[in-house]
Amino acid sequence: MMWNDCIQLHAEQSKGCTPRFSVANEWKIGLAWQQSLHCVNCQFKSGMYKLYDEVPTAGRGQKPATTNVALQIGLQDSAISNTKMCYLLTSANVPPPSRRGMQKNANKVTSITAQHTVDDLKQKREKIREINSLCGHEHNAPINISTDVLYNSTSLKNSYGAGQSCSQAIATCIEWLTDRHDIIGFHLENKLCKLGSTLRNRGYDVSCPGHEGCTATIPVDEPISEYRMGREMGLSLAKDNVRVKCVATDGDALGARGIQIIIIVYVTPSGQSKRLKWVHKTCKEYLLK
Ligand SMILES: [Zn+2]
Ligand SMILES: [Zn+2]
Repeated sequence: MMWNDCIQLHAEQSKGCTPRFSVANEWKIGLAWQQSLHCVNCQFKSGMYKLYDEVPTAGRGQKPATTNVALQIGLQDSAISNTKMCYLLTSANVPPPSRRGMQKNANKVTSITAQHTVDDLKQKREKIREINSLCGHEHNAPINISTDVLYNSTSLKNSYGAGQSCSQAIATCIEWLTDRHDIIGFHLENKLCKLGSTLRNRGYDVSCPGHEGCTATIPVDEPISEYRMGREMGLSLAKDNVRVKCVATDGDALGARGIQIIIIVYVTPSGQSKRLKWVHKTCKEYLLK
């Protein structure tokens, strides 16, 4: 569009000049660019052109470029971060975006993704109840699930000091009602808080979790507990009226017992539900019966 516009404007403004365009000004916005052209044979100079599409936003000011937002969406699904992305772009001789700008976009994208994830889980649980009805069961008939926890370290044990070696863990559970095995619940435990750490280094008396804008969910000296994560997942399932019959899990910890406690307390207050059967993760045949 920029070239077509400039050729037409140049033909109208500088009659008789054979155009020879060159970049007059350019402005980098992350991976996107704004440019203007000028003709080296005459005085023609164009205005600035946005060489990217914009993401429509409600607020005032400069709208983010689709390229920069798309980059952050892609990075969410990969194992590298903004730092490594800058390194890769520089290696390919592409001017990398500023780290600050990338982080700003990442914060916006992750908060939207988080909200979408919660909404999606709610829809998946609603779907479970629909499928139960289609199969001729009660809409809240108990289903089988399997669950496991992913840690941000290769081992639970810390080789260099006391306590666990991991600082983040996420528990997920998938349903065995359909062949899709959708994720219907998750719970994250996080000990890391950049803001709290920065404030403490500047002399403020803050503790994590608890202060405004804190990202930690448990204190740094408290062990990450699969039992607690199972309990929180069970609670969120129970709140959406999804009942659990069997939990398939590994023998690492007590995640299944955490779910069991919630199912008994919240879903069947009389405590008459069948006890959850502890099955090993590898016993998939058991659930397919
Ligand atoms: Zn010219
Ligand atoms: Zn904090």
